[in-house]
Amino acid sequence: MRAMVLRRQKPVERRPLACVERETPEPGPGELLLRVRYCGICRTDLHLVEGDMPLRRRPIVPGHQAVGVIEEMGRGVTGCKRGRRVGVPWIAGSCGACMHCRQGRENLCERLAFHGWSRDGGFASHMTVRADCAFPLPRLPDEHVAPLLCAGVVGYRALRRARIERGSTVALWGFGSSAHIGIQILRHWDCKVQVFTRSRAHQGHARALGASWVGSPKARAPSLSESAVIYAPVGELVPRALRNLAPGGTLALADIHMTPLPTMEYALLWKEKTVTSVANSTRDDVRELLRLAARIPLRSEVTLFPLEKANEALLAVKRSRLRGSAVLVNEA
Ligand SMILES: [Zn+2]
Ligand SMILES: [Zn+2]
Repeated sequence: MRAMVLRRQKPVERRPLACVERETPEPGPGELLLRVRYCGICRTDLHLVEGDMPLRRRPIVPGHQAVGVIEEMGRGVTGCKRGRRVGVPWIAGSCGACMHCRQGRENLCERLAFHGWSRDGGFASHMTVRADCAFPLPRLPDEHVAPLLCAGVVGYRALRRARIERGSTVALWGFGSSAHIGIQILRHWDCKVQVFTRSRAHQGHARALGASWVGSPKARAPSLSESAVIYAPVGELVPRALRNLAPGGTLALADIHMTPLPTMEYALLWKEKTVTSVANSTRDDVRELLRLAARIPLRSEVTLFPLEKANEALLAVKRSRLRGSAVLVNEA
């Protein structure tokens, strides 16, 4: 098999991933061996490769938005068959026994495992995956499904955390790969969507996807929102989003990283406003998002790169040169 392997973290300009040939792994008990067709690139991959996040294993094959086909099944796997298309998200397993797991919040499990971080991921021609962390896919083109597996799932969980009601007014701050999927779900729920983003290109994209109002983060929207999601990792946006939030409203912060939050007047939070973060996602989030993807149907914009060009693809993500998501293609 072929894999893009990370041995030492460094800036993507210095080509941290090396293309290597290695032995194809055997699937262990309860695992599947997949032939990977496509793998989406997420900003988390960039954080991992460049050293903003500690490595959990070395060397490691990144990638947590893989679409592939089942080639082999390990001992004890039932309900799967060879040749079936499946998707592989960020979550690679939880302990199933801790308080969070027992309460249906496995995204908070202290022993959560991750594809492309604690076990090898999808920047490769093959990968193994726990059978209970591989998901049957809707009938959408594979390359468009790949970015749904993290950008889409996180975007969706953020909407749920923001306690959005059908037909309500929702503000989205930042308009990258998660938000451009989130807005399609909100339109499906008949919500009015306000989009705050500096980028002219993103403003046009938001309008095309049905935003009822679009403006810069310093602009004032015509009405207050009942819920809001900040998709950008910018703490300064928190007081602005709260100023635009109606009494009783909820603001969800979707990114793993955020710059420090500025001090602010208590009045911005008063009247029972709620602020919450969004941490990882559960397997139920993945299932629900994939069901919605088929029903709406969700469209993601993608730019394709051959697997061997993973360094170049990461560089394009770093420089925000792409509209939508970068996706690696395994041609072999
Ligand atoms: Zn991700
Ligand atoms: Zn647990």
